[in-house]
Amino acid sequence: MPKVNIFTESCKGMDDCGICRFVCPKDLFQACKEMNSTGYYPPEIKDENECTGCQNCMICCPDFAIAVEKEPNQTPAQEDLNGHE
Ligand code: SF4
Ligand code: SF4
Repeated sequence: MPKVNIFTESCKGMDDCGICRFVCPKDLFQACKEMNSTGYYPPEIKDENECTGCQNCMICCPDFAIAVEKEPNQTPAQEDLNGHE
């Protein structure tokens, strides 16, 4: 299952930006109730189980505030092995 990491301190807020919300094909982003230290409300994920791992949010975030790990428990070596089964 993909893992979506949001670096809330780097985000400039869902109200002022919100690009992640528009580019997510599953509409998984919503504004967090907690403000970050710069006064913005970063996003949170509604249901990570619904994430497809497409990485649109990571690619489009202008502040590099999102990192999507496609398979957090899978090492590159394992991917290589799986690819040759
Ligand atoms: S990786 Fe894709 S599906 Fe998952 S949260 Fe980001 S945009 Fe949405
Ligand atoms: S695209 Fe990035 S900066 Fe914009 S609201 Fe989403 S996480 Fe914050």
